[in-house]
Amino acid sequence: MKINAQQLLKEKNIRITANRILILESFLKSSYSLSIADIEESLPWADRATIFRTLMTFKEKALLHTIKDDDKALKYALCSDACQVNHHHIHPHFHCDICSKTYCLTQYEFPTPDLPENFKASNYSLIINGICSNCQ
Ligand SMILES: [Zn+2]
Ligand SMILES: [Zn+2]
Ligand SMILES: [Zn+2]
Repeated sequence: MKINAQQLLKEKNIRITANRILILESFLKSSYSLSIADIEESLPWADRATIFRTLMTFKEKALLHTIKDDDKALKYALCSDACQVNHHHIHPHFHCDICSKTYCLTQYEFPTPDLPENFKASNYSLIINGICSNCQ
Protein backbone atom coordinates (compact mmCIF):
# COMPACT_ATOMS: atom_id res chain seq x y z
CA MET A 1 0.00 0.00 0.00
CA LYS A 2 1.80 3.08 -1.20
CA ILE A 3 -1.07 5.22 -2.32
CA ASN A 4 -0.69 8.69 -0.90
CA ALA A 5 -3.80 10.27 0.61
CA GLN A 6 -2.74 13.76 -0.38
CA GLN A 7 -2.18 12.69 -3.98
CA LEU A 8 -5.55 10.98 -4.10
CA LEU A 9 -7.37 14.08 -2.82
CA LYS A 10 -5.61 16.16 -5.44
CA GLU A 11 -6.59 13.75 -8.21
CA LYS A 12 -10.23 13.93 -7.19
CA ASN A 13 -10.14 17.72 -6.88
CA ILE A 14 -10.84 17.69 -3.16
CA ARG A 15 -9.38 20.47 -1.06
CA ILE A 16 -6.72 19.07 1.23
CA THR A 17 -7.26 19.44 4.99
CA ALA A 18 -5.64 17.60 7.91
CA ASN A 19 -8.90 15.81 8.77
CA ARG A 20 -9.50 14.72 5.21
CA ILE A 21 -6.02 13.24 4.98
CA LEU A 22 -6.44 11.35 8.27
CA ILE A 23 -9.87 10.01 7.37
CA LEU A 24 -8.71 8.93 3.93
CA GLU A 25 -5.66 7.25 5.44
CA SER A 26 -7.95 5.16 7.66
CA PHE A 27 -9.51 3.79 4.48
CA LEU A 28 -6.19 3.24 2.73
CA LYS A 29 -4.96 1.23 5.72
CA SER A 30 -8.08 -0.89 6.06
CA SER A 31 -8.81 -4.06 4.12
CA TYR A 32 -12.53 -3.78 4.91
CA SER A 33 -15.16 -1.05 4.79
CA LEU A 34 -15.59 1.40 7.67
CA SER A 35 -18.61 2.87 9.43
CA ILE A 36 -18.65 6.31 11.03
CA ALA A 37 -18.21 4.58 14.41
CA ASP A 38 -15.07 2.80 13.14
CA ILE A 39 -13.57 6.12 12.07
CA GLU A 40 -14.51 7.79 15.35
CA GLU A 41 -12.67 5.03 17.14
CA SER A 42 -9.45 5.55 15.19
CA LEU A 43 -9.68 9.37 15.32
CA PRO A 44 -11.11 10.04 18.78
CA TRP A 45 -10.54 13.80 18.61
CA ALA A 46 -12.57 14.29 15.42
CA ASP A 47 -16.24 15.05 15.95
CA ARG A 48 -18.97 13.04 14.28
CA ALA A 49 -20.29 15.97 12.23
CA THR A 50 -16.88 16.58 10.67
CA ILE A 51 -16.45 12.90 9.89
CA PHE A 52 -19.92 12.75 8.38
CA ARG A 53 -19.36 15.84 6.21
CA THR A 54 -16.02 14.50 5.04
CA LEU A 55 -17.55 11.16 4.07
CA MET A 56 -20.32 12.96 2.15
CA THR A 57 -17.72 14.98 0.25
CA PHE A 58 -15.70 11.86 -0.51
CA LYS A 59 -18.82 10.11 -1.77
CA GLU A 60 -19.80 13.04 -4.00
CA LYS A 61 -16.31 13.07 -5.47
CA ALA A 62 -16.31 9.30 -6.19
CA LEU A 63 -13.65 8.53 -3.65
CA LEU A 64 -15.86 6.37 -1.44
CA HIS A 65 -18.97 4.30 -2.08
CA THR A 66 -21.51 3.22 0.51
CA ILE A 67 -22.54 -0.33 1.38
CA LYS A 68 -25.76 -1.36 3.07
CA ASP A 69 -25.36 -4.72 4.71
CA ASP A 70 -27.17 -6.40 7.59
CA ASP A 71 -25.66 -4.05 10.14
CA LYS A 72 -27.53 -0.90 11.08
CA ALA A 73 -24.66 1.43 10.25
CA LEU A 74 -23.92 2.41 6.68
CA LYS A 75 -20.40 1.46 5.63
CA TYR A 76 -17.99 3.26 3.36
CA ALA A 77 -15.26 1.84 1.14
CA LEU A 78 -12.76 3.23 -1.33
CA CYS A 79 -13.82 3.42 -4.96
CA SER A 80 -11.68 2.19 -7.78
CA ASP A 81 -9.64 4.76 -9.69
CA ALA A 82 -12.06 4.60 -12.57
CA CYS A 83 -15.10 5.41 -10.50
CA GLN A 84 -17.19 8.36 -11.66
CA VAL A 85 -19.53 10.57 -9.67
CA ASN A 86 -22.51 8.30 -10.38
CA HIS A 87 -20.75 5.28 -8.75
CA HIS A 88 -21.35 2.37 -11.05
CA HIS A 89 -19.96 -0.50 -9.00
CA ILE A 90 -20.64 -4.08 -9.96
CA HIS A 91 -18.48 -5.85 -7.42
CA PRO A 92 -20.16 -7.87 -4.68
CA HIS A 93 -19.61 -7.21 -1.00
CA PHE A 94 -18.91 -9.87 1.58
CA HIS A 95 -20.33 -9.46 5.07
CA CYS A 96 -18.85 -11.68 7.77
CA ASP A 97 -21.41 -13.13 10.17
CA ILE A 98 -18.83 -13.37 12.95
CA CYS A 99 -16.75 -10.15 12.92
CA SER A 100 -19.37 -8.08 11.02
CA LYS A 101 -16.71 -6.68 8.71
CA THR A 102 -17.70 -5.99 5.13
CA TYR A 103 -15.20 -6.43 2.31
CA CYS A 104 -15.28 -5.18 -1.29
CA LEU A 105 -14.73 -8.13 -3.61
CA THR A 106 -13.41 -5.91 -6.39
CA GLN A 107 -11.86 -8.79 -8.33
CA TYR A 108 -15.33 -10.17 -9.07
CA GLU A 109 -18.17 -8.75 -11.13
CA PHE A 110 -21.80 -9.70 -11.08
CA PRO A 111 -24.03 -9.28 -14.14
CA THR A 112 -26.72 -6.66 -14.58
CA PRO A 113 -30.00 -8.28 -13.58
CA ASP A 114 -32.59 -8.88 -16.28
CA LEU A 115 -35.59 -6.80 -15.28
CA PRO A 116 -39.26 -7.10 -16.24
CA GLU A 117 -40.48 -4.66 -18.86
CA ASN A 118 -40.70 -1.05 -17.67
CA PHE A 119 -38.69 -1.69 -14.54
CA LYS A 120 -35.66 0.55 -14.40
CA ALA A 121 -32.91 -0.03 -11.88
CA SER A 122 -31.27 3.01 -10.33
CA ASN A 123 -28.93 0.93 -8.24
CA TYR A 124 -28.28 -2.68 -7.39
CA SER A 125 -25.96 -4.51 -5.08
CA LEU A 126 -24.99 -7.98 -4.07
CA ILE A 127 -24.15 -8.83 -0.47
CA ILE A 128 -22.74 -12.24 0.30
CA ASN A 129 -23.01 -13.31 3.93
CA GLY A 130 -20.67 -15.86 5.42
CA ILE A 131 -17.43 -16.25 7.33
CA CYS A 132 -14.35 -14.28 6.31
CA SER A 133 -10.83 -15.71 6.12
CA ASN A 134 -9.82 -14.12 9.43
CA CYS A 135 -12.67 -15.82 11.26
CA GLN A 136 -12.26 -19.32 9.81
ZN1 LIG B 1 -17.60 4.68 -6.59
ZN1 LIG C 1 -14.87 -12.25 9.98
ZN1 LIG D 1 -17.24 -2.02 -2.57
